[in-house]
Amino acid sequence: MKIAILPGDGIGPEIIEQAVKVLNVLGESFELETAPVGGAGYAAHGHPLPEGTLALAKAADAVLFGAVGDYQYDNLERALRPEQAILGLRKQLGLFGNLRPAILYPELAGASTLKPEVVSGLDILIVRELTGDIYFGQPRGVRECPDGPFKGQREGFDTMRYAEGEIRRIAHVAFQAAQKRGKRLTSVDKANVLETFQFWKDIVTDVHKEYPDVALDHMYVDNAAMQLVRAPKKFDVIVTGNMFGDILSDCAAMLTGSIGMLPSASLDANNKGLYEPSHGSAPDIAGKGIANPLATILSAAMMLRYTFNKNEQADRIETAVKSVLAQGLRTADIFEPGTTKVGTAEMGNAVVKALAA
Ligand code: NAD
Repeated sequence: MKIAILPGDGIGPEIIEQAVKVLNVLGESFELETAPVGGAGYAAHGHPLPEGTLALAKAADAVLFGAVGDYQYDNLERALRPEQAILGLRKQLGLFGNLRPAILYPELAGASTLKPEVVSGLDILIVRELTGDIYFGQPRGVRECPDGPFKGQREGFDTMRYAEGEIRRIAHVAFQAAQKRGKRLTSVDKANVLETFQFWKDIVTDVHKEYPDVALDHMYVDNAAMQLVRAPKKFDVIVTGNMFGDILSDCAAMLTGSIGMLPSASLDANNKGLYEPSHGSAPDIAGKGIANPLATILSAAMMLRYTFNKNEQADRIETAVKSVLAQGLRTADIFEPGTTKVGTAEMGNAVVKALAA
C-alpha cells in the first residue's frame, strides 16, 4: 500500500499532516512518501509537477493530495501555474472517474442554506466522468459560421462526444460505488435532446445487466438539478458526464454549506486514485492553524474504501469524524455558538483520539 503524499501549497501541508496522523494510527502497513507539488514544486524544481513527483505518483497505488495555488504564482505563464499540477496528474494517471460525496452530518445541518429537514443526514455520491465530453471533444474553436441565419459571422463551437468504452468504464465505476453504498444509481443525461446522451443512456442500461443488485433509474439533467435542491436525500449515487457533473457536483457540495468537510476521489480503470479535499489551498488562512482538516481526513477514508478495499478502516475514520462533531468540536469555518472552536492540529488530534477509543 504505497501512498504518494503531495501536500502542495497554502493550507495543504497543515491539513495533510492531520490525515497522515490518522493513517498512522490505523495499524496498517502503509508506505508513505512525500513530494512537492504546485507552487511548492515550482519553488523546489521550477515546475508545478516536477518529474520526481510525477514518477512517485505513477509508482504509488494512491495519491493523497492537499491543495495547490497561491497568489504569489498568479503572474506565472499558464503552464507553470500551480493549478497545472492537478490537471497534469489527472491526465498522466488516466484519472477519468471523479467521485464527490456530499454528506451533511446532522450536527452541521445549520450550515446549509436549505431547510435543515431537507438536508440533515444527506449522504449522496456524484460520479462524474472527468476526461471526455464537450470539455475535450474535437473539433473546437472560433470560425466563420458556415450556414443558417448567421452565415458568414464568427461563431464559437465545441464538440460533445462520448465513445462507448468511455461510457462503459465510468458506468462500471458508478455501479461498483453503488454496490458499496445504498445500491441505487441514477444516471443523469439529456437523452431527449442530445444524441450523445441517448447513446450514454443505452450503454449505461446495457452495463446494468452486470449489476442486477443495483437499482438503476435515468433522469434528465434539468430535472436532476431541480430534485437536488427539492429532495436531495432521494438520491444515493448519481453518474453523469463531465459537463453535467461539473455543475451538479458543485450544486450538491453547496447543499452541505461547508466546503471544509467535502472529500473527493479521482480514479483510473484499476481503482488507483488521487484523493483530495474538494476545496482549494485557502491562502487567506494558510499558516494560521485554523483550517478544517476533515475533508482531507475523509479523503483518506475514501482512499481506503476505493483503492485499498478496506471498508472497515474507512468506516472507522468516518465514525471518528462523526464522533468529534458530536463532541461539539468545530474549526472556525463550521463554528456555531454553543460549540467549541478548535484549530487544525487539535481537530486532527481529536480524530486520532476517537479512533483509539
Ligand atoms: P478555496 O477553496 O481555497 O477557498 C475558498 C474559501 O473557503 C476561503 O475563504 C477559504 O479560507 C475557505 N476554505 C477553503 N478550505 C477551507 C478549509 N479546509 N478550512 C477552512 N476554510 C476553508 O478557493 P479559492 O479561494 O477560490 O482558491 C484559492 C487557491 O486555491 C487558488 O489558487 C485556486 O486556484 C486554488 N484551488 C486549488 C484547488 C486544488 O488544489 N484542487 C481547487 C480549487 C482552488
